[in-house]
Amino acid sequence: MGITRQLYQLQAIELDIESKEQTLVQSLASLGESKALLEARNGLSAGEQCLGELEKKQHDAEWEIEDIAGKLLSAQETLYSGRITNPKELSGLQHEVENFKKKRNVLEEEALEIMEQVEAATSELAGLRLKLDEVEKNWRQQQQQLSDTIEELKIALSRLKKEQQQALAGIDDETVDCYRKLRQKRGKAVARMEQGTCRGCGISLSTAELQRVKGNRIIMCNNCGRILFVD
Ligand SMILES: [Zn+2]
Repeated sequence: MGITRQLYQLQAIELDIESKEQTLVQSLASLGESKALLEARNGLSAGEQCLGELEKKQHDAEWEIEDIAGKLLSAQETLYSGRITNPKELSGLQHEVENFKKKRNVLEEEALEIMEQVEAATSELAGLRLKLDEVEKNWRQQQQQLSDTIEELKIALSRLKKEQQQALAGIDDETVDCYRKLRQKRGKAVARMEQGTCRGCGISLSTAELQRVKGNRIIMCNNCGRILFVD
């Protein structure tokens, strides 16, 4: 194999390594809990807290209603027991009974409102649970795909690095040195030459230059300085 082809193949291997290493870094960074997952989880937790508070409020309201109902019953019993005959006391007691009734009605209305809020929060929570399930399912799939991709990349990189070592072993140190310097400076050290044009920079080569490149010696492009390779 000619030296320019060897260099061209080495470069192809190394560019592949670079690209796969970049994908590997990105894939590794994407492992772990996603923003969507955390948001869905926080949403559910907020919904649970909201429902918990409402249920406590509901419980308190029920307890208050029970309390006032007890007081009302006791006042009514006293009122109708016939034990109290003093008109002033009776009127006061009647007034108390009315007040208890009013208070009970207000509390019952409040309790009804709270119950409606509890129902709404319960249904909202069910929606949030479904959403979290869905997000979690997608996230698990993505993580599985990522893990597979990472495994594949690691295997491919280990194979490519062996190929790189094999390719390097067949090229003399001086040429490798020249290739490395060009890679650092230009990104790509070897440019394919097609239809009399350097694909590295797009310039057309003279016939004399073309002949020299075809001679399979290391010839640099006059314009971009890359090693020219012709298939
Ligand atoms: Zn060029």
